[in-house]
Amino acid sequence: MRQISRVLIAGAGIGGLSSALALAKQGIKVIVCEQASSLGEVGAGLQISPNAMKVLRKLGLESRLRPFVFVPQHATIRDFKTGDYYLKVPLGEHASSRYSAPYWHLHRADLHRVLAQACLEAGVELLLDATVTHYAKNTELNQVNLFLNDGRTLSADLLIGADGIRSKIREQMLGPERPTFMGQVAWRGVIPVSELRTTIQPDACVWAGPGRHFVSYYLRGGDYVNFVAVEERSDWQSESWREEGDVEELKRAFAGWHPEVSDLLASASSTFLWALNGRRELSTWHEDRVVLLGDACHPMLPFMAQGAAMAIEDAYVLAQCLSRYSIGDALIKYEQVRKPRTTKIQQMSKANAGLYHMHGGAFGKMKLKALQTVSRFVPRVIQSKLDAVYGYDATKDISSLP
Ligand SMILES: Cc1cc2nc3c(=O)[nH]c(=O)nc-3n(C[C@H](O)[C@H](O)[C@H](O)COP(=O)(O)OP(=O)(O)OC[C@H]3O[C@@H](n4cnc5c(N)ncnc54)[C@H](O)[C@@H]3O)c2cc1C
Repeated sequence: MRQISRVLIAGAGIGGLSSALALAKQGIKVIVCEQASSLGEVGAGLQISPNAMKVLRKLGLESRLRPFVFVPQHATIRDFKTGDYYLKVPLGEHASSRYSAPYWHLHRADLHRVLAQACLEAGVELLLDATVTHYAKNTELNQVNLFLNDGRTLSADLLIGADGIRSKIREQMLGPERPTFMGQVAWRGVIPVSELRTTIQPDACVWAGPGRHFVSYYLRGGDYVNFVAVEERSDWQSESWREEGDVEELKRAFAGWHPEVSDLLASASSTFLWALNGRRELSTWHEDRVVLLGDACHPMLPFMAQGAAMAIEDAYVLAQCLSRYSIGDALIKYEQVRKPRTTKIQQMSKANAGLYHMHGGAFGKMKLKALQTVSRFVPRVIQSKLDAVYGYDATKDISSLP
């Protein structure tokens, strides 16, 4: 029942490129418009969980990514001072066999490069320096027109807004609304292992502390360590959402933490600082021949490490819907399938902020202690929560997806 032969995508992030590849593999002509003048994600790591890996495998990327990965052995939550484990869940072989797909750590630049290369091989046209300004219905041709800031106009059967949290496409569809500052900032950085004064555990590790947390894990076969340091703040003033951070300020914020954290930070020479923003659930994700995907419609706090994974799942489900239904029905089905899942994961991510930051003082610590007890004595409770996230398979027939 396919009614489309040509699709425009605003944004060549992980969501936009995954979508482009999934559609191009169906023989659809895809043009991606990216505002940046060159392709390349910023230097930071990504945890790519089995639910996202099932899609990347289906898109033919698993073996192309394998040379660049690090396979974490556990997902852990540890105390910021004592290093005690509140949670230690096996990943590695356990995750691969339980979910039939691996849990990998990847440098964003590696994932982005592999995706972009596969898109080009599949015939996707990538336009750089192509800033999208707005769109308009082309009722005569039953198409949508897309306008770029250099005066160009493109048209297609469908426009996908994969242009991130400050999406122009979302703004036109639903009206201007600034994203909400979530009261937290994140410093990110990547350190070559050769520069480290310490070794870290081969895990995806969250260090929980009052009002802040620290995430550390290896990348690229263990040659690099990625860190994300999150601090609650009320004073974020900058309009820019991504800027050079002050390493000394970062070190001060985490002074006195467990040596695995402070020794790691002692080796950091540069960092980027992000304001963490969110949006309330959107009333709709589509209108006529325009649809949103990824952070453009469901940005989330990164505390489940699922933002990119959700964009990758969106991409595959949307492509499936378009191959099966008329455009109108496909966009309705896509939103019906995706919104409950992404909203749930947005909520879980937000809840993790309270847990990781020991909200409520002594009560916050008690919650972590309770988690420790549950994970020791009734691990299936934790496992079933993880199963709901990692066990999902967006590549299953659309009719069987919850
Ligand atoms: C600290 C941190 C850690 C994270 N860790 C993880 C993790 O471990 N695992 C995980 O799955 N997720 C993680 N995430 C979330 C993840 O980074 C995002 O959810 C994901 O990158 C969203 O992808 P996207 O393609 O939807 O949007 P983006 O990555 O924002 O891509 C949007 C693209 O659109 C382009 N664009 C914007 N406006 C225009 C325009 N007008 N015209 C043309 N192009 C435009 C942009 O230049 C960009 O290339 C993390 C996020 C943060 C902040």
